[in-house]
Amino acid sequence: MSHFVARRATALLVAACLAAACSSDARSATDADGEPNTVPAAPTSTSNAAPLPTTTAPPTTAPPTTMLLGTTLLATTTTTPPPVDPSYDDIPIGVCDTITDGAIGYRNDTATIADEYEQIGLSAQGRPIWAEHWGTPDGPQVLVLGQVHGDECAPAWFVQAIREQPPTTFGIWLVPTINPDGLAAHTRRTADGIDPNRDGFRLETPEARAVMFATGRYQPVLTIHVHSPYQWVGSHNGGLAREVAGAMSDAVGWGPTPNAGRVRNGDLAFLWEGQELVIPGHPSVLIEFPAVAEGESPAPPDPSQKDVATVAAVATQAKLMRDAFYEVMDHR
Ligand SMILES: [Zn+2]
Repeated sequence: MSHFVARRATALLVAACLAAACSSDARSATDADGEPNTVPAAPTSTSNAAPLPTTTAPPTTAPPTTMLLGTTLLATTTTTPPPVDPSYDDIPIGVCDTITDGAIGYRNDTATIADEYEQIGLSAQGRPIWAEHWGTPDGPQVLVLGQVHGDECAPAWFVQAIREQPPTTFGIWLVPTINPDGLAAHTRRTADGIDPNRDGFRLETPEARAVMFATGRYQPVLTIHVHSPYQWVGSHNGGLAREVAGAMSDAVGWGPTPNAGRVRNGDLAFLWEGQELVIPGHPSVLIEFPAVAEGESPAPPDPSQKDVATVAAVATQAKLMRDAFYEVMDHR
C-alpha cells in the first residue's frame, strides 16, 4: 500500500508541478504520461498538410443465394450477412492481444459496428488510421484517442466499453489507435522513432497530423486521451474537461484530478496542446489506466512507478468511467 501511495504521490507531484508553471530547470524529468521530455531529434521536414479523408463504401448486401437440386430450382433465399467493420483487418494484432489472460487488442470484436468509419490518416508505414462514429450524429461530438503509445494495452478496455455501449444523447468519434505501427511492433513511439504525444506542435509525424485533422474535421467539444500505466485522471483547459475527469475519478476512487499539463520544453508539446491551435481553449481529459501486465508500457523513465492491475479490474474501471462520462454529457 505504501508503495502505491508513493508512486501515486510522485505522479501527482509531477502533474501538479506541470500545472503550476514550474521552471524547466526545476521540474521533474518525467511528464504527464511518463516520457522524459528530452527528445533530441531535430525537426526534419514539417508539413501541416492534413491527409484527405477516405470514406469507406457502405457494406454491401450479399446477392440472393439460390439452391439448386438437379435442374430444379427449389428455393431462392436472400441472406443478409452480418455487417462488416471496414477497419477490422487494418488494425494490427500485436502483443496487446496476447499480453495476459483475457487480453484484448484494439480491433472491434463486439457484435456491433459503428455507424460511420473514416480514415483520418496513414501511419508512417502506411497503415490506415481509423475513426469510428458511435452515438448520435447531431449534437455535441467527443473525440476519443484510444491508444497513442503503441505499447499501452489497458486503454483497449475503454475502447471496447464505448463500442459495447455507445452514447445516446451525443456522438463519439473513436480512434482506436492513432499509432498502429507502434501497436504492431509494441513500441511506445511511432515507426519514425518519435513520441507522438510530444509532437503536438511540430507535427512531424503523420500520426499527430491525423489527430489535428480529426480535431478540425469533427470539431469536438472535448477530447479524451487514453494512456497507461499510471493510475490517475487529469484535465486540460478546465470546464467540461475538469467536470468529466472529476466524475471519472470519483467513479473509480482514484482521488484528485490534476491538470494534464504542458511539456514546456522548446517546441515539444502534448497532443492536447496542439489541439488548442486547431480549436482555441479546447478541453481535454487524460486517462492513465494501470497496466494489465508487466510487459505493458515500461513507465519511462522509472519503471518502479508503474501501476499494474488485473484485466478484470481495468475492464470494470473502464465501464465505470464510461458511465460517469456519459452521465456528465447527458446533463450538460
Ligand atoms: Zn502513453
